[in-house]
Amino acid sequence: MQDITDGLRRFRREAFPPRAALFAELAGRHRPEALFIGCSDSRVVPELITQRGPGELFVVRTAGNLVPPHPAGADGVAASIEYAVGALGVRDVVVCGHSDCGAMTALATGDGLDRLPSVAAWLRHAAGGGAAAPVADGGPGVEQRVAALVRANVVAQLDRLRTHPSVAEALERRALALHGWVFDIASGTVEAYDPAERRFRPPVG
Ligand code: ZN
Repeated sequence: MQDITDGLRRFRREAFPPRAALFAELAGRHRPEALFIGCSDSRVVPELITQRGPGELFVVRTAGNLVPPHPAGADGVAASIEYAVGALGVRDVVVCGHSDCGAMTALATGDGLDRLPSVAAWLRHAAGGGAAAPVADGGPGVEQRVAALVRANVVAQLDRLRTHPSVAEALERRALALHGWVFDIASGTVEAYDPAERRFRPPVG
């Protein structure tokens, strides 16, 4: 924790002053360009991989970058989506999965979920309804299985997003575009989903 509190001091002393004018402007204006729905994984940092700064991304991060279906009662994810799309008027929504995702690995292998009941319940929102047939832990095919599940899950969450009324309404007005990405941690590259071809395109650049 000491590193984190030291970071706070360093931010205030070194990082904030050159950005003081920006923060002063942002203090009374919130107009992010996009809603970014990513995994809570600490290695996938939305602002870093998209090179965005304060005020530019409205971010929702959940285990496995999952979007529960609408309506789901008092739900923080649904509320954040509705606020970003309906109130802030973002023009784009990105759902970003990633390599080595713990949530997708748990789903693919079934490993450890008996000790994590909340995670197991949450994964019902994943592609396949959380019912992916487990494969032997560490056995052949696990990595490929996880990689395929990461991608199928991003596509499933894009479909899930369309069940949210604010999203459906903005899509109808052609005021919103949905994007599916998979971030590869080792290479720093992103594959983007092509809905016309129903596949992820190899990374560019
Ligand atoms: Zn993850």
